Amino acid sequence: MEMQASRIPKSKRLLARAFEVTKLSHALLKAQALITRGSYIRAINYHGTPKSLADGLEEQLRFFSRHFSDVSYNDLESFFRSGKWHKKKPGLIISFDDGLRSNGEVAVPLLEKYGFTGWFFVPVAFIDSPPSEQLAFARSHQIVPDESYADGRIAMSWEELREMSKRHVVGCHTRTHRRMTAEVSDEEIEDEIVHARDDLQEKLGRKVYVYCWVGGEEHTYSARAARAIRRAGYRFAFMTNNAPITARTNPLQLQRTNIEAFFSLDVVRFQISGAMDLLYTGKRRRVNRLTA
Ligand SMILES: [Zn+2]
Repeated sequence: MEMQASRIPKSKRLLARAFEVTKLSHALLKAQALITRGSYIRAINYHGTPKSLADGLEEQLRFFSRHFSDVSYNDLESFFRSGKWHKKKPGLIISFDDGLRSNGEVAVPLLEKYGFTGWFFVPVAFIDSPPSEQLAFARSHQIVPDESYADGRIAMSWEELREMSKRHVVGCHTRTHRRMTAEVSDEEIEDEIVHARDDLQEKLGRKVYVYCWVGGEEHTYSARAARAIRRAGYRFAFMTNNAPITARTNPLQLQRTNIEAFFSLDVVRFQISGAMDLLYTGKRRRVNRLTA
């Protein structure tokens, strides 16, 4: 726990603390709701949710349930179709990247307890790997294993995903957890974005309309990959450049803010207060222009 807390940069912890002490996080959150008349959706993304952090995750979900409403896939569709958010509180999309087993075992029951839809973005080849090879796959593809299990399986299984996809959203996070940097070839882009989605659909036995970019560093977004996402027919694509989603947002440029289960509540409040949106303005504009 101590070690994980130190993964949050000290500057951010201090800033979050200062925001908390001065009640700025709370004021910003209220201001956003007022300005948009509550007609916006915030999207956040987690990675691993190990058992040891279940209490912290539950505290976060309890906090979210006080300030936000659930967003199902149909809710998001109707938000863009009607241009209006139809629930009292702003929406919150709670997403989980990388297909880790702890998401299915720890996060799903808690999400259901608090009435939230989980949005799970999975690298298809990670789920497909035999359990004995998953740790090596994670290490060589920049996926952070968060828990070890006696049988070696650290990814969600296809059975789990099929079952979850009845109540939650499963999206494509490429095949091999690939960042779309300049050196990725057109053939590789096609496989990671289009064929991986086709395989995911076949495994789940249902349509997949959601894509999620990998990495999030500025050089991991590209115009070529953005074209493939459009051509593939995805309805929604998620990025990580911090902004509320409004009816005017490009549905293929849905921004998320990173939250982890080990974040303290003051850091969580700071992250979704809108302060991060301001810090990311320049990068977000450049990425949105590149991928428009
Ligand atoms: Zn990822």
